[in-house]
Amino acid sequence: MKIAFLDRDGTIIEDYEDELWRNVVDPVFIDESIDTLKIIKEKGYEIIIITNQYLIDEKIITLSQYKNFTQKFINKLKDNGVEILNIFYCPHSREKDCSCMKPKDGLIKSALEKYPTIDLQNSFIAGDSLCDIELGRNLGIKTFGIGLESSEGVLSINSLKNIVKYL
Ligand SMILES: [Mg+2]
Ligand SMILES: [Zn+2]
Repeated sequence: MKIAFLDRDGTIIEDYEDELWRNVVDPVFIDESIDTLKIIKEKGYEIIIITNQYLIDEKIITLSQYKNFTQKFINKLKDNGVEILNIFYCPHSREKDCSCMKPKDGLIKSALEKYPTIDLQNSFIAGDSLCDIELGRNLGIKTFGIGLESSEGVLSINSLKNIVKYL
């Protein structure tokens, strides 16, 4: 199966400065992002979210805060007819040098272990941070940078909704 590996914050929902995340209780979906996820699925991709959540280990949010928020995120999508396959997150602090914080490929490896039928070469990655496009570039798969300058091997788009014409 082919996968859309999507970043969460700043890609599907609004992102904030780290400290502000303490008080965020509900995901705010970026304009047309839910419809775009729907189209991505219609084009034959399953959706896996890969997200760095170092705020957990860095004690800005708690794990249960993350989990409650994630449940709301999933429910909102479900209510709008979008089922995502899974979410893989890195909870580690930036100091930790773990193997899963993007741009490292640990989250992708976890996904491949759980879903051995993933066809990585026909999958793509999209995100709004340099770590996202660096990961995509390292994997050698189709990569979309949102609101980032275009660079070698990376398609630059303004917003997730603009991805549709490239799929
Ligand atoms: Mg992001
Ligand atoms: Zn990690």
